[in-house]
Amino acid sequence: MAKTVTRRIHILPDHVANQIAAGEVVERPSSVVKELVENSLDAGTTRVRVELRNGGKTLIRVADDGEGMSRPDALLALDRHATSKIRRAEDLLGVLSFGFRGEALPSIAAVSHFELTTAPADGGPGTDVKVNAGRILSSGEVARQPGTTVTVRALFHNVPARAKFLRSAAVETRAVSETVLLLALANLGTGFRLESNGRELLDLPPAASIAERVAAIWGDDEAGDLLALDVEAGGVRVTGLVQRPDSVRPAGGRRYLFVNGRPFRDPALLRAVDEAYRTTVVPGLRPTVFLNIGIPAGQVDVNVHPAKAEVRFHDPKAMRGAIGTAVRRRLAELISAPAFGPEPGPAGPEHEPSAGEPGTGAGGISKKARERSAEGMDSGQLAFFVPGLARVTGTPAKGASGTTGPAPANDAGETPADEPWPAHRTPSDIWQLHQAYILVTMREGLLIIDQHSAHERVLFEEIMRRFQGEGGASQRLLFPLTLRLSPAEYAAVEELKGLLQTIGFEVEAFGERTVIVHATPHPHPHFDAEGCFREMVHELAHGSELVNSARNQHERIAKSMACKGAIKAGQSLSRTEMEGLLDRLFATELPGHDVHGRPTILRLTLDELGRRFGRE
Ligand code: ADP
Ligand code: MG
Repeated sequence: MAKTVTRRIHILPDHVANQIAAGEVVERPSSVVKELVENSLDAGTTRVRVELRNGGKTLIRVADDGEGMSRPDALLALDRHATSKIRRAEDLLGVLSFGFRGEALPSIAAVSHFELTTAPADGGPGTDVKVNAGRILSSGEVARQPGTTVTVRALFHNVPARAKFLRSAAVETRAVSETVLLLALANLGTGFRLESNGRELLDLPPAASIAERVAAIWGDDEAGDLLALDVEAGGVRVTGLVQRPDSVRPAGGRRYLFVNGRPFRDPALLRAVDEAYRTTVVPGLRPTVFLNIGIPAGQVDVNVHPAKAEVRFHDPKAMRGAIGTAVRRRLAELISAPAFGPEPGPAGPEHEPSAGEPGTGAGGISKKARERSAEGMDSGQLAFFVPGLARVTGTPAKGASGTTGPAPANDAGETPADEPWPAHRTPSDIWQLHQAYILVTMREGLLIIDQHSAHERVLFEEIMRRFQGEGGASQRLLFPLTLRLSPAEYAAVEELKGLLQTIGFEVEAFGERTVIVHATPHPHPHFDAEGCFREMVHELAHGSELVNSARNQHERIAKSMACKGAIKAGQSLSRTEMEGLLDRLFATELPGHDVHGRPTILRLTLDELGRRFGRE
């Protein structure tokens, strides 16, 4: 007797498969808007218009002036896995378009009343297709300018379980705005309009730069706090905007990452960015950044997330390193050459002043200028302003080799005080004002340096280098100090004895809350070792800063020591001391900021003076 074969497996009908796919791609109105606008961008639109009613729950309409579709393409586009963007699996590796899965249109059409109106750019006839819950209701010819309009009504009307999860109209509208903003930040050349219930929420004309777009969205003030950045690091090109350290506020900034113009999320990369701000802002603050990573398409996989919100780099660690280096380098350039150095060379793109950077700090120093200088072709003048460069070139400084600055050479011959000064300096162009500020004339104006903040930055970096194993001298005291401390201070000293020794304090815990200090560092001739030690120990015992790693502990001690040990306002300085201080300041990695994120240097350019005196 023949056995009856029961088949339990069958292929799902398309409209069911599409509904399942819709679960992945179409979560809420904002995801519909994202898919539709991305299609418009892929079609080369110059202006996209997004309309919402009731947060998109009643209606979503996206209209573009892109290349449109012919009638057969319009019908095919509604088929699952219909895409014009890739043909073979290998194409995925280099995909540059936003879409490529060929799922968005059929998925959206499976869960709404859907209408597609489109006309091709070649002037062919327009097509209109109406779909309900994945089934084509009608299609016909219509008159339309080239471009495409997709209208999505009653989203999830046939999937009540999903409709239930939609939030209030206000919440959904906000999510759509955020999506449109993100797309607008990533696609500067396109104009974007967003309307909700007939009211205009956004109207962004095509922008020439990210700074222009940010200004159009959030206003000139906010854009003015951002520094343009364009740095090659670790084989990638990082471009965008980063916030000036002194404008970072506790409220937390806007954070946008893009890879080859595609927005993505990556908390670990953002942490690398914050890390790059270390010691220029209070720890824990989150500066605003808009960063695009330009990298060969083959080195990043964008197909790891259904909504393409995440990407996978082939070498994530290298990517974090590159981003960190790029941001750090930009911050280090804050006070940089073009405004003070030799005559600017022929203006290339790299010489253009960065947008949104009034007042202090000119744009990025040109790579060419760096190279020229590194080859000694600019007689070393430029090197002065480029932290670290003199150490690389080893150009001996004319007349600046004696380390007679406010601090003695800890490690003679190796101190950054060997940095060259600009050759055009004359004896009359450095003064002290109110025993607190140092004024220096430069080719293009005046630098005003806060002596305490400047020295704080210098000491901080020197102490951090000691923690990394670079030795430093301390001075043995002829008469050791005997100090009585509070129980908490005594405990702190016992705990941190080794680290204190590293920075030059040789301390012996004597018992009974008494310590004996046998040797102290000697950062400058006016140093009050006992006062500094007491203040520091007090801070270390009572401070509230989070210490969760050795590096944080080192940083905390270095900051405390730098702050307490730096020359204070009210200290008069000799000319040689001022010169020494500035030499060392400009040899630091981040000369423009003290360890609390405050600026160390202000500058007044001749241009600015001219403006203020009404000469321009
Ligand atoms: P994908 O974008 O992944 O290719 P979609 O389902 O979003 O898949 O779109 C399918 C195809 O329909 C696209 O590949 C494209 O050829 C066409 N298409 C969709 N939207 C537009 C549009 N706004 N303008 C022109 N062509 C479009
Ligand atoms: Mg698409």
